[in-house]
Amino acid sequence: MPDPLMTLVDDAPSSRQVEDLLQPHRRLIARLRRSEALSTGDVEAALRQMTELASTVLRVERVSVWRLCEGGGRIECLDLYSRRTGSHEKGMSLGIRQGPTYFAALDTERCIAAHDARTDPRTTELFQTYLEPLGIGAMLDAPVFLHGQMVGVVCHEHVGAPRYWRLWEELLAGTLSDFVAHVMEAEERAVAQAEVARYRAHLEALVEARTKELRASEQSFRDLFEASPTALVLSRVPDGRLVLINSRARQMMQLPSSVGNGEIDTARFYESLEDRDRILEDVRCQGFVDGRETRMRTFDGQPRWCQISARVITYDGEMHIAAGLNDVSGLKDIEQRLREAAMKDPLTGAFNRRHLFDVGAGELERARRYDRSLAVAIFDADHFKQKNDRHGHAVGDEILVLLSKIARSQLRQSDVLARFGGEEFVVLFPETSLDDAFSVTERLRERVAAAPVETAAGPVAQTISAGVVAWDRSESLAQMIERADRALYRAKESGRNRTERG
Ligand code: GH3
Ligand code: MG
Ligand code: MG
Repeated sequence: MPDPLMTLVDDAPSSRQVEDLLQPHRRLIARLRRSEALSTGDVEAALRQMTELASTVLRVERVSVWRLCEGGGRIECLDLYSRRTGSHEKGMSLGIRQGPTYFAALDTERCIAAHDARTDPRTTELFQTYLEPLGIGAMLDAPVFLHGQMVGVVCHEHVGAPRYWRLWEELLAGTLSDFVAHVMEAEERAVAQAEVARYRAHLEALVEARTKELRASEQSFRDLFEASPTALVLSRVPDGRLVLINSRARQMMQLPSSVGNGEIDTARFYESLEDRDRILEDVRCQGFVDGRETRMRTFDGQPRWCQISARVITYDGEMHIAAGLNDVSGLKDIEQRLREAAMKDPLTGAFNRRHLFDVGAGELERARRYDRSLAVAIFDADHFKQKNDRHGHAVGDEILVLLSKIARSQLRQSDVLARFGGEEFVVLFPETSLDDAFSVTERLRERVAAAPVETAAGPVAQTISAGVVAWDRSESLAQMIERADRALYRAKESGRNRTERG
């Protein structure tokens, strides 16, 4: 009996025959390459297309694709096409224990061409469990390699008698396994891309959530800033540009609502740029300034005394200065008035005796150090008691105010006029000789005597007597005044309306 296999062996084909045999192979490859399922990574569709085409071209009953899983212990069917029924199945599996020789061959051979599957040493072990029940006579199995690893197998199963697989059929089986490798790679790529897309979507969602959070926190910062009962200003460190100003500060600085924050340089609100630079310098060096009293001015130029407290803060990723302003103009006014009240005579506005001695001590010290002259005059209203008696105390007061006014008009800015007693005034002349002080006092005396002073009770004639002394470089101010008073006494003795040197 002839070997059934031998009847299937072809004679060596001619090159023309090889060409003809390769034609369907080429057509199949071309169709698979164009497969849309391949480009979209739709593995199932690509494999179904392939198994159907392979079964037609190779004229086999069953074509299936299997994937190696569970660390190589098992293969699982991804698609099985049965030509007779035209149906697809999947999900079946085959363990390594059912065919260890077959599995070993998959790992090492490019193609398992079992012409007689029942007797082939690589497939005979599958006889009882697999080949016999399905009536399989010949198998042409090509393992699938991806990245150098065996990852699956493409099986062509001929139902019926043994079949001699031709060379072109073996080649085609190898090409089909390459195609499956290609499909699996496309699947891997699609999975990776989906993973990347999912990760990107996750990141975008995170960024969006973070942005929302930031926006919300910035909004609450702005709300708090705006609602603060303290005047607050936020400015950029490099150029002093205003970034935020709350309504309390806008009101304090008389900033019209038509003026936008970014349009203003904070320098505009400082009376002196040196003050501003000093504050900026201190904030930069020590990080803060607390309660610094500073002369400022409103947007329309009105003066304001402000206490500034400032800190360096990071806003919008950049260095900024957050400053709180407290308007202390009212307090400053009171302070100024108290200071003046402490050194001035309330009736005439001339300095009081205490201030005279305060200033005098400094002037004496200066004259001593720089070797300068200094003079003192004392003048007293003549017969003042009579004026009071005749016109009343109020008119007397008026006369004292006018005397002080006339005296001030005759003196230099640097001369110090003080009300020394009831109707007595002292003048301190810094850097002045006896002669000069004498002539100024004489001129004052003449000016008072020249015309009656205008009072509520009508014109009242008034004269003054005066004593003038120069500093003798050893005496105190009190001693000088005493000497001047003695000269004044002489002037009174000599008939009043006179000036005497001491
Ligand atoms: P003499 O030319 O010698 O200086 O005479 P006189 O009357 O000016 O001197 P006397 O010292 O006798 O009087 C000074 C008067 O000045 C007495 C006092 O009532 C008055 N007098 C002092 N202080 C004030 C004041 O603040 N207002 C008024 N209206 N009178 C004052
Ligand atoms: Mg008098
Ligand atoms: Mg007197």
